[in-house]
Amino acid sequence: MMNMCAIAEMVNVCKYYGKGAGRVDALVDINLTFSKGEICVLAGPSGSGKSTLLHLLGCIDKPDQGKIIINGIDTTNKTLEKLSSLRIEKIGFVFQTFNLLPVLTAYENIELPLLFKGEDGKGVLKNRIDEVLEKVGLQDRKHHYPREMSGGQQQRVAIARALVTEPAMILADEPTANLDSKTGESIIDLLLKLNINDKVTVVISSHDSVVLDRIEKVIHIFDGRILQTRDR
Ligand code: ADP
Ligand code: MG
Repeated sequence: MMNMCAIAEMVNVCKYYGKGAGRVDALVDINLTFSKGEICVLAGPSGSGKSTLLHLLGCIDKPDQGKIIINGIDTTNKTLEKLSSLRIEKIGFVFQTFNLLPVLTAYENIELPLLFKGEDGKGVLKNRIDEVLEKVGLQDRKHHYPREMSGGQQQRVAIARALVTEPAMILADEPTANLDSKTGESIIDLLLKLNINDKVTVVISSHDSVVLDRIEKVIHIFDGRILQTRDR
């Protein structure tokens, strides 16, 4: 039975890298449901499978076994190419190293996903870019290049870029790892605010105590297996 409150479901998901004796079992029999509008942290040390799990959730990669359902759509029999429209419509990514294009301004970086969608940043969409710049508190930096901004500001641009397509779900892979703890905390505050005000589902991977202290639901992963979920 499909769960109507779920934005994403993983059913008996396994992911392996390599073959034979050298095979790495990156994810083993993962069963998780992410509800619409929730915010949670996927916590585990380096190498535990956090990025792999987020890549599967974001349809950047496919599992070797099991099923992933995004917004009611079973992705199992679709190619990554076919899934790209689902990804661009429903999912926003935020990365540890921001991944902004250095030759583009903040505004132009945020416009990029709209161009991928076949829309351009003019007219109504221009307002949309200004709106997300305001949400992340960077109206006064819109014509700045990444090198002219601090790490925290660059991560805000990356969050704005993830938001501009109005995704149902934001996946943030260790978004505070390259920031000092105070700046990291402000990024978590921003993600919490977006979750509460805009009802965006947010999944953050992290092993940063600043993050674990601020977010109630924590899913612990170790060696590719879910250990426990804390939801106070
Ligand atoms: P985390 O994000 O928690 O640090 P990862 O998902 O990146 O963990 O990695 C999980 C495991 O899979 C690790 O043992 C890692 O070395 C391995 N791994 C990740 N990506 C690849 C890859 N492309 N090829 C081979 N092994 C990989
Ligand atoms: Mg990782």
